[in-house]
Amino acid sequence: MSAAGGGGSAIPEPATVTAFVERLARVRDRIVSAGGDPARVTVVAVTKGFGPVAVAVARAGGVADLGENYAQELARKAGASEARDPGLGPAVRWHAIGRLQRNKVRSLARSVALWQSVDREPLAAEIARRCPGASVLVQVNVSDEMQKGGCAPEETSALVRAARELGLDVRGLMAVGAEGGPDAAGPGFALLRRLADDLGLEERSMGMSADLEAAVAAGSTMVRIGTALFGFRPRTASGPAGTAH
Ligand SMILES: *Cc1c(COP(=O)(O)O)cnc(C)c1O
Repeated sequence: MSAAGGGGSAIPEPATVTAFVERLARVRDRIVSAGGDPARVTVVAVTKGFGPVAVAVARAGGVADLGENYAQELARKAGASEARDPGLGPAVRWHAIGRLQRNKVRSLARSVALWQSVDREPLAAEIARRCPGASVLVQVNVSDEMQKGGCAPEETSALVRAARELGLDVRGLMAVGAEGGPDAAGPGFALLRRLADDLGLEERSMGMSADLEAAVAAGSTMVRIGTALFGFRPRTASGPAGTAH
């Protein structure tokens, strides 16, 4: 099971941890300069595309919230000693942030702390079946881009209600910003904020490396950061080649 072999964890190089901690400080500076309070904006470190050592690096840097897109990759990393060894840092809270097929839920049921990409009722039902009472976010497609996941904005309240009726703990909403940089993403983030406010939902997961300022300015409570923390993703290491989001 251990990715490191021999049952040991890959202890990250001190210089790698230092670089991560510096990048994390820069991310927090960006949150502050966008008007956010870093104590109230959770940074989810997105380890997709990197090996289990990225998990150890994040934990050594004090980050416990980790995000993965692909079910297989999440399951693999959650099982690796880098995620489980209590000596490496705080206990990991895994966030499932990518498009999810129903038949993958079971393999993640014991690992995921927050299901961020609930975008349709059958998926909510499967999560409720495999992990009763699980914490979820409803993902909304705020940019009207076909390739993005998420329910239509006007379906949000019905999906939130349905998830609650299934016994899920709906903490908030999640969105991926429109392509084209911060200016393009801003209106969608504002829409997500309005939808969350209307529904009385606390958590607003929005903002990635390229558009976190726009998201924080619009009231993000949770940013999902990959490249700004770990550098550029190796193209071949994850999921469908080259679809780096
Ligand atoms: C990959 C990904 C991120 C992180 O993206 P970066 O640009 O590397 O910060 C955040 N959210 C989702 C849904 C992603 O797929």
